[in-house]
Amino acid sequence: MRLAGKVAVVTGAARGIGRATAERLLAEGAQVVLADIDVEQLDKTVAELAAPDRVLAMRVDVANQREVVQLVDAAVQRFECIDIMVNNAGIAPVIPFLDVTEEILSRVLDVNLKGAFFGTQAAGRQMISQGKGGVIINMSSINSGLANPNVAPYAISKGGMNQVTSTAAVAFAPHGIRVVGVGPGTILTEMTAGAFVNTAGHHAILSRTPLGRYGDVSEIASVVAFLASDDASYITGETVYVDGGRRVLNYLVPVKE
Ligand code: NAD
Repeated sequence: MRLAGKVAVVTGAARGIGRATAERLLAEGAQVVLADIDVEQLDKTVAELAAPDRVLAMRVDVANQREVVQLVDAAVQRFECIDIMVNNAGIAPVIPFLDVTEEILSRVLDVNLKGAFFGTQAAGRQMISQGKGGVIINMSSINSGLANPNVAPYAISKGGMNQVTSTAAVAFAPHGIRVVGVGPGTILTEMTAGAFVNTAGHHAILSRTPLGRYGDVSEIASVVAFLASDDASYITGETVYVDGGRRVLNYLVPVKE
């Protein structure tokens, strides 16, 4: 119960890593606002959480600055303040570099990069006015620093997101607000099923993963909970990679068939 009494907002919380994060923050005692663009899935998830007193669900497109500001306002209206903001919503179209249209590039940057910026700015502004610190966590990716030409807009957005994290960390440090990133490796979710983790992709990913397996959503959620807690009180500006050793690996490792 490290987060008892804290108020958290998680975007992209209807499923996958965002849902697991919301569940973990709830289990640690926080009150949680779950935001997502997919209302149907969001309503299902919130019903399954069965914690009506400690959750609020809200339809939000994080690419829309006005809606992100309204999300923070709604959290404050319901739970009186905001202590933890998790900018997790994201999209990852798999498409060769030369086939990326302006429309695809714009949407990925709007959701992943500008969405994180809007969330960081809106939460930071509110936390500064509250005067009691806070933590902002941006869901990055190992692709922020690796080059996969089939997810170029995504990789570019996550590289930029790491700079949202570091610049905001310095901007907000005087207010006792920490801004950190989490960079997952390959985690089995609907985002990665199919496009990333097909047969060829499976071998390519695991031959670059020393721990020899995919990650579970709970293994990302637990790191978010740690970073959100006072156990991480001296970490700011950094993105922590949770990737089974993939980012630091030189050469390849054998894959168990
Ligand atoms: P997912 O597709 O399962 O879930 C993403 C959620 O975000 C969905 O519920 C979706 O409706 C929501 N969303 C999409 N666009 C939105 C928008 N504009 N506004 C609000 N909500 C929106 O994906 P996931 O695997 O759980 O990924 C979550 C985050 O983790 C993403 O930022 C992703 O880039 C990052 N990530 C995932 C992996 C992985 O292997 N799964 C690896 C690295 C980083």
